[in-house]
Order: sequence, then structure tokens, then C-alpha cells
Amino acid sequence: MNNEDILRWLERIADVLHENAQHLTELDSPIGDADHGTNMDRGFTAVRNKFSTMTTMDMATQLKTVGSTLVSTVGGSSGPLYGTAFLRAGTAVADKTDLSAADVVSMLEAFTGGIVTRGKAQPGEKTMVDALTPALNAAKEALGQGASIAEITARAATSAEEGAKATIPMLATKGRASYLGERSVGHQDPGATSSWLLLKALAEVCA
Ligand code: ADP
Ligand code: MG
Repeated sequence: MNNEDILRWLERIADVLHENAQHLTELDSPIGDADHGTNMDRGFTAVRNKFSTMTTMDMATQLKTVGSTLVSTVGGSSGPLYGTAFLRAGTAVADKTDLSAADVVSMLEAFTGGIVTRGKAQPGEKTMVDALTPALNAAKEALGQGASIAEITARAATSAEEGAKATIPMLATKGRASYLGERSVGHQDPGATSSWLLLKALAEVCA
């Protein structure tokens, strides 16, 4: 996986988030403030505007550019959370020009670690972490079995989807949804859903 593949991943994310903006905002309506889709679409539209300058960047700089762009353009909590994730992912691939399967898993680990460090959520609190943690575990397991990058990212995306769906019965104890207490139960978490979409985009590009 090289810097052209990273750029293809980012382009795919920008498309998928634009297509799903309304859906993500609808998920954020009953348990939030109905802006997750607009937040993500705004952030990745700003990233899209930098694609022409990103073709000559190494992958660490590409990912860090995404991180700083999200931090500066997304007002909601998803901005600093995903911003930190992409900044950490960039640090994890520093000096690399071609990622091995193990490097891809390290990038995913740094990405997830950025969200956890920034937001301090544990699995089960109805957040992005509930999609990312099972995805990372699946990726590590696949790597241990000698799987290819295509297989690793596909299994991560499938686990992220299951993780996002598993947030439905959860009681939110972090973020805006936690203000609702018991009323947060019965709704899929928007951030866990966008995390799944980011990993699905990665799997599609690596397929
Ligand atoms: P805001 O809540 O500020 O309106 P968004 O709507 O863009 O921001 O994002 C909401 C999502 O952010 C939630 O669905 C949840 O997944 C995620 N989130 C909120 N707080 C945390 C946290 N502490 N750790 C991880 N994810 C979080
Ligand atoms: Mg919101």
C-alpha cells in the first residue's frame, strides 16, 4: 500500500461520507444534535480540496494533513477525535513508502488509539470505539493468520459493521448521547457508523 492507495482511500471516504451525509445526520437526530453527517461531509470536503496538493506528499504527510484539516474544519466532537486518529495514523507510517500487512495493522492501531486517547471511551459506551476496537482485533487476528492486506481490511470492515450495529441496544455514557441516559438505548450510534464507513472504504480500495 503506497501513497497513491492512501489518496484513493481518502477520495473514497470523501465520496462515501458525502453519499451518507443525510443518513449519518438522521442517526444523530434521536441521540444527538443532527449534525454528524454534515460535520463529516464538511471535513472531508475540505480534505477533498487539498487532494491536488496531496499527490506529491508522502503518506505520513497525507494522513497528517487530513488530521489537521479535520481538527480545523469540523466543529463537533468528531473533528478532534478523527483528527487525532489521522494524525496518529500518519505518525505510525512515518518514513514508509510501501506498507506491509503488519504496517497497515499498525496504522489502524494508531488510528484507534488516537480516538481512545482523545475521547477516553471504553468499548460498550456507544461510540466510535465500538466499531473500531472489534475491527482492530479482527485485523490483528487476520494478520496473525498470515492474511493479505485485502483480507485484513475486509475482515476489519465486517467487524466494524457488526460493532456499529451492536451499539443499538447500548446505553450511551460518553458524548452528547449520554445526556439522554436510558433514551439513548435503541438507536445506532452515528460515530460508530461513520467509523465503519471509513474502514469499508479502506477495504474497497485494498480489494
Ligand atoms: P457532536 O456530538 O459534538 O455533535 P458529532 O455529531 O459529529 O459531534 O459526533 C458524534 C459522535 O462522536 C458520536 O456518535 C460518538 O460516536 C462520537 N463520540 C462522542 N464522544 C466520544 C468519545 N468520548 N469517544 C469516542 N467517540 C465519541
Ligand atoms: Mg452531533
